[in-house]
Amino acid sequence: MNDSSLAFWQDKAEQLVIEGRAYIDGKYQQAASGEQFDCLSPIDGRHLANVSACGQADADLAVACARTAFNTGDWRRFPPAKRKLILQKFADLVEQHGDELALLETLDMGKPISDSVNVDIQGALRCLRWTAEAIDKVYDEIAPSAENELGMVTHEPIGVVAAIVPWNFPLVMACWKIAPALATGNSVILKPSEKSPLTAIKLAALATQAGIPDGVFNVLPGFGHSIGKALALHNDVDTLVFTGSTAVAKQLFIYAGQSNMKRVWTEAGGKSPNIVFADAPDLDQAAAAAAGAICFNQGEVCTAGSRLLVESSIKDEFVAKVIAATKQWQPGNPLDPNTNVGAIVDQSQQTRVLGFIEQAQQQGGSLCQGGNAIEPVANGFYIEPTVFDNISNDMDIAQQEIFGPVLSIISFDTMEEAIEIANDSEYGLAAGVWTSNLSKGHRVAKALRAGSVWVNQWDGGDMTAPFGGYKQSGNGRDKSLHAFSKYTEVKATWIKL
Ligand code: NAD
Repeated sequence: MNDSSLAFWQDKAEQLVIEGRAYIDGKYQQAASGEQFDCLSPIDGRHLANVSACGQADADLAVACARTAFNTGDWRRFPPAKRKLILQKFADLVEQHGDELALLETLDMGKPISDSVNVDIQGALRCLRWTAEAIDKVYDEIAPSAENELGMVTHEPIGVVAAIVPWNFPLVMACWKIAPALATGNSVILKPSEKSPLTAIKLAALATQAGIPDGVFNVLPGFGHSIGKALALHNDVDTLVFTGSTAVAKQLFIYAGQSNMKRVWTEAGGKSPNIVFADAPDLDQAAAAAAGAICFNQGEVCTAGSRLLVESSIKDEFVAKVIAATKQWQPGNPLDPNTNVGAIVDQSQQTRVLGFIEQAQQQGGSLCQGGNAIEPVANGFYIEPTVFDNISNDMDIAQQEIFGPVLSIISFDTMEEAIEIANDSEYGLAAGVWTSNLSKGHRVAKALRAGSVWVNQWDGGDMTAPFGGYKQSGNGRDKSLHAFSKYTEVKATWIKL
């Protein structure tokens, strides 16, 4: 970060010129209908930009341009090493514009500026650079075949990819999709969330500046029910990649079935269990991690550790530590670099989270920390980090994804019971286990039905590890070499010699 003061970022925000138009075939343009929507900041309700509300005509145009670029253009024909260099330049430009992108992210969705700078921009860069670097190091296969035959197994770009992403990590989620899609030679249409479209729109011009040919990377902002649906139903989109809620993910499979059976890959919701055994190596550390797992990014994290499972013998002691640790997380002005909890993305999400808090109290949960809407900045949407004790796993608060800073504490007596509670969820995105016993750690990790398991930490891993869910948390994987498989078709070519 160049400067660590609130004044620096406020000043920068005043001077910011924000682009809100769609990006198709290498240029910014309004939606064909001329329709726009107001992009407001959850920090204080300020108006940030008028953003194009794209619809069917824009989907048709962008898909046609993406198809032309794929069929007749250079991108997919470039040697992987050339695509690598262009994507690396793209990353360099993202880095050069890092402050602006970080500020847009904070203004648009309310996360603390220090997270935008240190987590989101860094995460996007790491993804772009790692993926670019990998693409000229993956090989195809030669099948074991008879002496007079050659069997080749090759991976080819699939064509036109539509990527629909959520608002909680707008830039990082976009990069998890577009980096492997572009690296493998596809044309891409990115649809950001209507709640946080600004960094995706900015990204488009940087892609062109880096040398990605026109039509290869397009951005269509707008609403899910219009432009999202138009892309998902489009007969000339080959693959749909999605991060967002499980309800919308399910709808996308239906759209694919109603249209061209496009491939659909989804990263969806979570209700992740964090299991703390009495023999955890360090209870203070475990408590600090448990607080961070629900407070970071205002709890608006698909892998939020929203169910804290604590062994009964240490429960009172541990709950006290968690409450103390949670008090270290306090909502403040997101533009202040010292703030660690920002604004909730908008009023409807704030109302939804407060509804869960009220319902949990009615159902008998013990509210032991937080629970209120507050206004550290006037006219903004903030919620105190909230801790509930005495939750049973069948309560709504333990089963439904809240997507806010609300922690449910559930106690257990045995390892088997902990595993049963942890797996008693429609979701299976992530889980944590805290124990000093190596065998127990392995046994529990194996038994957990989740795509990521963290032992004696929360949220471990990086670009080298695949990320995705079991059960209704989705299918397919982002990150790592595994991500490439979503963006390629596999061809078997058998040659008689
Ligand atoms: P959402 O499902 O409401 O929206 C996600 C995207 O889908 C948005 O761009 C939206 O406009 C679009 N959309 C909505 N309806 C659509 C439709 N009918 N057709 C096509 N597109 C449509 O999710 P959200 O509220 O933006 O994000 C929060 C959700 O994202 C949470 O459930 C969270 O767990 C999930 N998430 C998952 C991961 C992961 O990797 N598993 C990561 C981040 C967020």
